[in-house]
Amino acid sequence: MNATDDTLTKEQIEHFAKRIQARKTLLLEEIRQVLARSSQEHEADLIGGVGDAGDAAATSLLREITESEVIRDVGEVRDIAAAEQRLASGRYGICIDCEEPIRYKRLDAYPTAKRCIACQERREKLKAPSPYTGR
Ligand SMILES: [Zn+2]
Repeated sequence: MNATDDTLTKEQIEHFAKRIQARKTLLLEEIRQVLARSSQEHEADLIGGVGDAGDAAATSLLREITESEVIRDVGEVRDIAAAEQRLASGRYGICIDCEEPIRYKRLDAYPTAKRCIACQERREKLKAPSPYTGR
């Protein structure tokens, strides 16, 4: 591994590890709450019996929003889990494509980043779906 100026220090890595952990705790709590709310709504539907068509439409819209919220959160939790694996294996902050260090500024804005800016941009230009990450 090249020891360049971009290589993260142990302290910087610990800092990001804490931020990632805090974010995960928050997300899992949010998912738990959204799911709890959604099952309460479902129970209310069953108990409430037949509502008018307007209510049903509102309920189904709410359910769709709830689902997209959860899907987004779960996607982020997945990114966090991958970042945690890289932390555990000592590969956090190293680009998975070119294996160069990812800049501190990029990680500061996006702590679960797995690619350096150059590789990410190249990837977005190609827009090729990857069988490995699904992105
Ligand atoms: Zn790279």
